[in-house]
This record gives sequence, C-alpha cells and structure tokens, in this order.
Amino acid sequence: MPMYEYYCPDCHTKFEALRPMSQADEAIACKQCESDRATRTLSLFATFSRDSNRVSSQPAPSNFGGGCCGGACGCSH
Ligand SMILES: [Zn+2]
Repeated sequence: MPMYEYYCPDCHTKFEALRPMSQADEAIACKQCESDRATRTLSLFATFSRDSNRVSSQPAPSNFGGGCCGGACGCSH
C-alpha cells in the first residue's frame, strides 16, 4: 500500500498515512485533532526541504545526442 502525505487545515499538521490508491484523495481523519478535513498534499515522496539537495542529480545520458551521427563516425546526417 502506498504512503501518502496529508495536511490538516485545522491544526496545521502534516502527517502520513498508508492508504489504498483508490482512497488516496478521499478525506481522512487528522491524526492530531481528529478533524475530517485533512486532505492529501501534492508532494508524494518527500518534503521540499528533504528534497532540495538532490535537484541536479539526474544522470547525464551517455548514449544519447551525438553518439553515432555527431560527426565522428562519418555518416552523412
Ligand atoms: Zn488536525
């Protein structure tokens, strides 16, 4: 079961909950104040602060953009 992050506007608390995907967007009871107005936040896997140090961690494509037809192999493209 995937874990989702929810935010409660009544007590301003973020919390995570394991729910089936079909119920991910349904209202959930807040774990803090038991309000039923908590809704799912859009960050699926991590908070912004936790994510900020891996912004440019995409690996450079090594096999793309000029391997064969970049001019080195002599083809006419
Ligand atoms: Zn709450």
